[in-house]
Amino acid sequence: MPNQTKILIIYTGGTIGMITDVETGALKPFDFNQISEEVPELKKIPYQLETLFFKEPIDSSNVTPKTWIKIAGLIEKHYNDYDGFVVLHGSDTMAYSASALSFMLRNLNKPVVFTGSQLPIGVIRTDGKENLVTAIEIAGAKKNGEPIVPEVSVYFEYKLYRGNRTTKLNAEHFEAFASFDYPILANAGIKINYNYSKVLKLRKAPLQIYRNFNTNVAILTLFPGITHDFVRHFFNTPNLKGVVLQTFGSGNALSKQWFLDELLRAIRKNITILNVTQCKMGEVIQGRYETSEGLEKVGVIGGGDMTIEAAITKMMVVLGELADREEIKTALLRSFCGEITV
Ligand code: ASP
Repeated sequence: MPNQTKILIIYTGGTIGMITDVETGALKPFDFNQISEEVPELKKIPYQLETLFFKEPIDSSNVTPKTWIKIAGLIEKHYNDYDGFVVLHGSDTMAYSASALSFMLRNLNKPVVFTGSQLPIGVIRTDGKENLVTAIEIAGAKKNGEPIVPEVSVYFEYKLYRGNRTTKLNAEHFEAFASFDYPILANAGIKINYNYSKVLKLRKAPLQIYRNFNTNVAILTLFPGITHDFVRHFFNTPNLKGVVLQTFGSGNALSKQWFLDELLRAIRKNITILNVTQCKMGEVIQGRYETSEGLEKVGVIGGGDMTIEAAITKMMVVLGELADREEIKTALLRSFCGEITV
């Protein structure tokens, strides 16, 4: 059919693509070529659907930047042939992958919707069918001939989120994700209600894929009683280049001199330190309390309301691209695609 909306489904792994082996009762990946047998509803969608799948589907705990490069490569290769993309992915690290892809797919002007499920698609009570069917519908949704959600998003349990604003919040409930600091992009009820003003504006420049990750990064989560020994060893990690420091409240940390000295020593060794909060909601404001003034003074960068998933993946991307301290800071504080409120 000419002009029919075309959607490419990329299956990477995760629970959604599993069925129960009748003999052993264990969950195993099913042949994704047979997806329409498992989900006959797909035949009723008035889009042309095609599927690609990883030869060896992975549990998302095994995702690495190589996986992101593979997904981005598939999107790049097929970019002009499809109107939108649905990426099926395990929910455990979906927020990291959606964040990473949002930074990799520069000038994206087509929908890339991540989804998965808590129960395998072959299980009677699965949440996978609704997630898949609605994710496809959203990936192909257009208004005045233009895609409604031309950005990397996550669809789960009737809600569409900006990918780089999501966090996995529940390992059990179907509502597995939340976006605490940014409104949902759509709500699927009888109709899919889009939050048009919150979706990124369509970009007109050609797609560019960014692939150069610097993986010499780490996350340091503060807790009362953290020891000097631990912090010293942490910052002595060979080749360390970037640290996301997970602080308390609005970006506060212990004000012990040894701690500030370790941070200063690290920054002098050219390690970039980005401050994000352990709180689920709200933002880092360095200097609001005395306990964050010291961080500001030694040169820690306040990460605003970025999620930990967005912060660490953005750090890998920015450090892969830039070396100059001021340029790194400017890039980390800039909104690439809506991951930080500026
Ligand atoms: N462990 C699975 C994964 O993340 C869970 C899921 O698919 O939701 O791959």
